[in-house]
Amino acid sequence: MIQEYDIAILGGGISGFSVALRLQNKGYKTVVFEAHGQLGGCAGFFTKSDFSFDVGATTLVDFVEGGVGGNFFRDINLELPKGEYIEYIAWLPDKEVILYRDFEKWNKERLDKLGATEKHVKFWNLMDKVTKVFWNASRENIKLPIQSLKDLYIVIKTIGIRNVYLVKYLNVTMLDVLKKYNLENDKLLIGLLSMLIEDTVHSTIDKAPFINAALGATIRGAGLMRADGGMKGFWNHLAIHYLEMGGTLKKGNRVINFSKEEESWNIKTSKGTFKSKKIISSLPVDLTYKIGTDAVKSKLHPFIVKNKKEHGSAIVVFLGVPEIEVSNQVYTHHQLLLDYEAKLGNGNNMFVSVSAKNDTLSAPAGFRSVMLSTHCELSEWQNLSETEYQIKKHKIGQKLVESARKVYPNLGENAVIYEIGTPTTYQKFTSRTDGSVGGFKQTLKNSNFKAIPQDIGVENFWLTGDNTWPGLGTVAGLISGRIASEYAEK
Ligand SMILES: Cc1cc2nc3c(=O)[nH]c(=O)nc-3n(C[C@H](O)[C@H](O)[C@H](O)COP(=O)(O)OP(=O)(O)OC[C@H]3O[C@@H](n4cnc5c(N)ncnc54)[C@H](O)[C@@H]3O)c2cc1C
Repeated sequence: MIQEYDIAILGGGISGFSVALRLQNKGYKTVVFEAHGQLGGCAGFFTKSDFSFDVGATTLVDFVEGGVGGNFFRDINLELPKGEYIEYIAWLPDKEVILYRDFEKWNKERLDKLGATEKHVKFWNLMDKVTKVFWNASRENIKLPIQSLKDLYIVIKTIGIRNVYLVKYLNVTMLDVLKKYNLENDKLLIGLLSMLIEDTVHSTIDKAPFINAALGATIRGAGLMRADGGMKGFWNHLAIHYLEMGGTLKKGNRVINFSKEEESWNIKTSKGTFKSKKIISSLPVDLTYKIGTDAVKSKLHPFIVKNKKEHGSAIVVFLGVPEIEVSNQVYTHHQLLLDYEAKLGNGNNMFVSVSAKNDTLSAPAGFRSVMLSTHCELSEWQNLSETEYQIKKHKIGQKLVESARKVYPNLGENAVIYEIGTPTTYQKFTSRTDGSVGGFKQTLKNSNFKAIPQDIGVENFWLTGDNTWPGLGTVAGLISGRIASEYAEK
C-alpha cells in the first residue's frame, strides 16, 4: 500500500519549501520532491574547500518584523535567521551613491547626489507614496491577478480605499512617470534606476511597470539581509525546522510527471511513485507545463506563449579571497554601472556581495567569499561549441573581476577559489530550462493583472514560484507560496 500525503510540493527552492513549512506547521502531512542533492534552487549555495557561496540570491528581502519574510517566520513559529542588514553603494560612472536603509539618510543622499529640483522632489514623493502603500499591501496579503470579487475586495482592503487611485500606476511604465516629471533625460537618475530595476524586475525603464519598478528600486529600505552563513546558514535553519515538524524531504528525487487517479495524484519520480491528495508545483512554469497533465498544459499554454521572449539569465563569479583583498571598504555590497551609454548586463552593471567579516560558515578565518553577478541574455549562450563556451566563460569571468576592481583594486589576485557560473551551470544544477533564472522580465503585458496566478483552475493543483505572481526573488517566492498554501488549505 503506497503512503498517501496530504500535499506534495514539487521543488525545494524558496517558493516550494516555504509552502511546505507553512502547511506542515498547520498539521498537514507534506512531502517535498527536490531533484538536486540539496535544497535552495536559485537561492541555494555550494561549498568548496572551506568556503560556501550563494549560487544566486545573496540577500533576503523584507526579512524584518512585520515584513514579508518576518511574517513568514512568525507564521511557521521560527525565529528570523540572524544576519547583517545591508546598505550598499551604487557606483555610477562618475559618482557614488549610498543606498541607505534609513529613510532620512536616503532622502538626503538622493537629493544631494541625484538632484533636488522641484521635479526631482515631486518624483521621489510619488515613489515614496507608491512604495509605502504597495510594500504594506504585500505584507498584508494582497493578491493579483484579480480572479474573483473576493480578490477585488482584498486588493481594495490592503491598498486602502483612499489609495485606490494609485492602482493606475500598475498600468504605466517607469519611463511614463519619469516623462511626467520631465526627467526622462536625467542621466544620473536613469542610470541608477535602470540598474536597480534590471537587478530586481529584470526589465528596463521603458518596459517595467512603475509600481513593480518602484518596489524593486526600494528593496533595501524594506530590509535587505544577508543571513549569517549566507544561504547555507539560511537553509540549515529552515531544513532542521521542517524535519523537526515531521515533514518528508525527498532530495535527489526528480519529478518526471504526475497524473490523476480517482481523488489522488500519482507523482512519478526518479526514485519511485508517490501519492498525494494535492499538489503545489514550485518548478519554473515551463517545466510544470512540460511534465504536467493535459489540463495543466492547456491552462498554462497562453502564459508560456506570452512569456516566451521574457526569459533572461545570469553569470556569477565565485571567489575565495584573503581578507586583505576586500578590507579597503566598509560596505560589503555594491552595485556597479560602468557606462551610462552601453547596454545593461554582461558586466556593464553588476552586483558585488562579500561575506561578513566574522562569517566563518561562508569563509575560513582570514578569508572572505565574494560573489559577482551580472545578467545576460539566454540566446548569447545557446548553440556554442564546447571550445566557444569555455572561451566565452573565461572572458566574462575576467571582465567581472576586472570591473569589480573599481571597488576592490586587488580583488582576485590571490584567490584560492575562482569559479564561474553561466546559464549552462544554472540549467545543470537547478534544472531551469536553458538556464533561465530570476523570473520573467516584467512588463505591462505579463505582470500584476496579467501575471500567472497561483490558481490556474485545475482541481487540487496550484502553482508558486518566481514565474508566478508577484514574480522575482525571495520575497515573491514567499508571497506566491503563502497564496498557494492558502488555496491548498481550503
Ligand atoms: C545571480 C542571481 C542573483 C539573485 N539575487 C537575488 C537576491 O539577492 N535576492 C532575491 O530575493 N532574489 C535574488 N535572485 C532571485 C532568486 O534567487 C529566485 O527568484 C528564487 O530563488 C527562485 O526561487 P523558486 O523557488 O521560485 O525557484 P527555484 O529556486 O528555481 O526552485 C525550484 C526548485 O525545483 C527543483 N527542481 C527542478 N526540476 C525539478 C524536478 N523535475 N523535480 C523536482 N525538483 C525539481 C530545482 O532544483 C529547484 O531547487 C537572484 C537570482 C540569481 C540567478
